[in-house]
Amino acid sequence: MYQRKIEIRGARTNNLRSLDLVLPRGQLVVFVGVSGSGKSSLVFDTIAAEAGYQLNETFPPFVRNRLPKWARPEASQIDGLSPVVVIDQRRIGGNARSTVGTVTDAWTYLRLLFSRVSTPYVGESNHFSFNDPAGMCRTCSGLGEVVVSAVDRFLDLDRSLKDGAILLPGFGNGGYWYAQYADIGTFDPDTPLRDWTQAERDALLFGGEHAARLGRRPPKDYEGVVERFERIYLRTPDNLSDRKQEVIARFTRSTVCPDCHGDRLNEASRTATVLGHTIGEMARMEIAELAALVPRVSEPAVAPVVAALTARLDALVTIGLGYLHLGRATTTLSGGESQRVKTVKHLGSSLVEMIYVFDEPTVGLHPQDVAAMTTLLQRLRDKGNTVLVVEHDPAVMAIADQIVEIGPDAGDGGGRLVFQGTFAELRRADTPTATALARQRPVKERPRTPRGAVTIAAATRNNLKNVTVDIPTGVMTVFTGVAGSGKSSLAAELVAQHDAVVIDQRPVSTNRRSTPITYTGIAAPIRRLFARHNGVPAGLFSANSEGACPDCKGLGVIYTDLAFMEGQETVCDTCQGRRFTREVLRYRVDGLSIADVDDLTIAEAVRRLADPAITRALRHLEEVGLGYLRLGQPLSTLSGGECQRVKIAKELRDATGPTLYVLDEPTTGLHLRDIDTLLNVLDNLVAHGHTVVVIEHNLDVIRRADWLVDLGPGPGRHGGQILYQGPVAGLTGTATARALRDAAVR
Ligand code: ADP
Ligand code: ADP
Ligand code: ZN
Ligand code: ZN
Repeated sequence: MYQRKIEIRGARTNNLRSLDLVLPRGQLVVFVGVSGSGKSSLVFDTIAAEAGYQLNETFPPFVRNRLPKWARPEASQIDGLSPVVVIDQRRIGGNARSTVGTVTDAWTYLRLLFSRVSTPYVGESNHFSFNDPAGMCRTCSGLGEVVVSAVDRFLDLDRSLKDGAILLPGFGNGGYWYAQYADIGTFDPDTPLRDWTQAERDALLFGGEHAARLGRRPPKDYEGVVERFERIYLRTPDNLSDRKQEVIARFTRSTVCPDCHGDRLNEASRTATVLGHTIGEMARMEIAELAALVPRVSEPAVAPVVAALTARLDALVTIGLGYLHLGRATTTLSGGESQRVKTVKHLGSSLVEMIYVFDEPTVGLHPQDVAAMTTLLQRLRDKGNTVLVVEHDPAVMAIADQIVEIGPDAGDGGGRLVFQGTFAELRRADTPTATALARQRPVKERPRTPRGAVTIAAATRNNLKNVTVDIPTGVMTVFTGVAGSGKSSLAAELVAQHDAVVIDQRPVSTNRRSTPITYTGIAAPIRRLFARHNGVPAGLFSANSEGACPDCKGLGVIYTDLAFMEGQETVCDTCQGRRFTREVLRYRVDGLSIADVDDLTIAEAVRRLADPAITRALRHLEEVGLGYLRLGQPLSTLSGGECQRVKIAKELRDATGPTLYVLDEPTTGLHLRDIDTLLNVLDNLVAHGHTVVVIEHNLDVIRRADWLVDLGPGPGRHGGQILYQGPVAGLTGTATARALRDAAVR
C-alpha cells in the first residue's frame, strides 16, 4: 500500500542518538533546535542523503558517476521516501555562464521571444543563446568577459627554477612539466630569475618569437609557461575540476570583453530589438521592470511564450528578487538570494510527491519579505509535495503543519527528538526553543557612547544614491533594510574606503586536513604535553616522525594523486586511520592517546588537556559558542555560520590595535538561544575597543545595537538611500520600525 509517512529508525549520522521519527508526507514540517543539535544531520545527511542514494542506485553505473555523490547515512531503517530536491544556501555554481536568467529558465523564454519577433529577424532561438556557437560573441565565447593570464603571479623572481620559481602547480621542481624548462639546457636552473635577462624571462614565459631569438634556443616543440598554462587550463571544456578552477582563480584575472562589452552575444543578436530594447538591455533591466514590460508584446503567435516568461518573472518578484536582473551572474549572489533563485525554478515544475528540503530559507530576508517566502513554501506543499525546512525564524515555525525539535543541546548533548507537534503546542512545551520564544528582549536603553566616527563618502556602488554617512567607532552599528536595499553595498563601500576586516561566512579553509587543531596552532603544545606526561621526546607525536604510521606517513589516509584529475582518498589499512604506531598510541594524557585527542570536543579539551597554551588558543572558540566542535573535525565540514564564528574567535585572540569589523548576517544558522551568545561575543569585541558593523535582519540583534543605519525604502533602484541613522529607540516610520513594533505586540 502507498505510504503516507516517512519512517526513520535508529538514525546515527554525526551526533544523532539512534533517533526514531515518523513524519507525515504532504505536509510542511519545520525542524528547530539549537545550533549543532543535529537538524542538518537529520534532514540533509540522513533523509536527503538516503533519498539521493536510493535514487542514484536506480541508474546504471555510467550515469551514476555523473550524479551528485550521496554517502549512505547510518540508520537501521528509512521508509517512505520519494525523490528529494535540496534547496540549500550553497552558492549556485562557480560557472560564469550561469546567470539569474539561465538558472530560472527565464532566459530561455526571452530568447524564444527574440527569435520570433525581433527587428530585424535574426534567426532561431539559439542565435540569442550565449551558450550556443550561433549566438555567442566569438571573442569571449559568450562569457561577457575574457580571462587573461595574470602573468605577474606566475613567477617568484627571487627563486631559481630549482627552488620552484614557477609557482604554477605541476611546473615546480619535481612537477610534471619541470624538466621541460629546467633540463633543456636553455635556462640556468640554479640562478634566481631576477638575475636572468628580460629576454630569457620572456622566452621562459611566452616561448615563440621570444624563444627563437635566444642564444641557446630551446627545442622546436618548446612551449612557454604561459602558452602551456593557457592550453591546459583556459582552452579546455567547461566542466573543470575544483582543483583546476582553484588554479585558474589564482593565476588569472578577468576583464570585460572588448567586443560585446558584456552582452555575451555576437553583433547581429545583440543589436536586434523587441519593444525597442535589445536583449542585452532587457538582461540588465530590473526583473520587476521587465515583468511589467514583457506583457506589452502583443503578437498572438508568441502569447504562450509571453505568458511563460511573465510567470517566471512574477515568481521572482513575489519572493522579493524583483530588484535583480536576469544577466546577473549567479556567482555574485548572496547565499539567501541563491536559495530563492533556486526555489523559483521548482515552483514552475509540475512534479508532485517530491520531498523539498530547505536550509534556512529566510536568510537575507527582512521580516517584511519573510511572508513571501512562507507563501512560497505553502504553495509547494499545496501542489502535493512534502516540504522539510530547517529554520530558526518564528514566522516560519508559525506556518508549519508540524514542528520537530532536535536537541536538547549541541553536539553530544543533542541528537535526540525532544518535541514533535504544532507551533501552539511547542510554545507550551519545555524545550530550548520554547524557552527562547517566550523571552522578549528589550531595545537597548543606554547605547554606548562612540569614540569617534569614520565617514563613508559619496557612495554610489550598485544602487547607492550618492550616500554619505558617518559610522560611529567603538560601538556596534547595525545596517538594516529590506533585501536589496543596499546594506551589503554600503558595507562594501565602508570596507573600500577604510581599513576594515570582513568576517564573512565563506569557508575557513577548503583544505580537508585543516582542523581546529591546525587552525589554532595547538598541535605543538599538544605534542609537548604528551611528551612531558610520558617522559618521551615530543617528536614522537609528530605526524612526520618515526612515531607516525609508516604506511600513511601519519595522515591516516592514503591519497592517490591522479595528475590533473581529482585525487582518491582511502583510510589507511595499517593504522585504521589512527595515524600513529601502536607504541606511540600507548602513551596517555588523562587516559587519552594522541589519536583520541581528535575526538575531544573543544570544551572537553579545555578541561582535560591542562596546558595554558592549549587553553588560551581554544578558549575563544568556546566563547563564541563552538565548544561542541571536535578537535579533529575538518573545518571544511563547518556551516557558514560556524565558519564566521571561528573567524571571530581568531580576531578575539589576534587583533592588536582597535579594528573595524564588518559582519554580514552573523545570525545565519543560529538558534534564538545562540543569538545571545553571539551578541555577547560582539559586545566582547566592542569591549576590547573595536568597532563592529553588522548587516542584520534579526530583531534581537537590531534591538541591541548602539546605532542603526536603516536603508531603503525599497529594493534595487527603489532603495539605496539612508532612511534613518541614530539610536534604535528613535526609529519610526520605516519597514524596520514596523517589524520591531509588530514583534513587540506578538
Ligand atoms: P545543526 O544543523 O542542528 O546546527 P548539525 O547536524 O550540523 O547541527 O551538527 C550536529 C553535530 O554533528 C555537531 O556537533 C557538528 O559539529 C557535528 N557534525 C556535523 N557534520 C559533521 C561531519 N561531517 N563530521 C563530523 N561531525 C559533524
Ligand atoms: P542588501 O544587502 O540590502 O540586500 P545589496 O547591497 O546586496 O542589498 O544590493 C543592492 C542592489 O545592488 C541590488 O539591486 C543588487 O541587485 C545590486 N547588486 C549587489 N551586488 C551586485 C553585483 N555584484 N553586481 C551587480 N549588482 C549588484
Ligand atoms: Zn564578448
Ligand atoms: Zn596509517
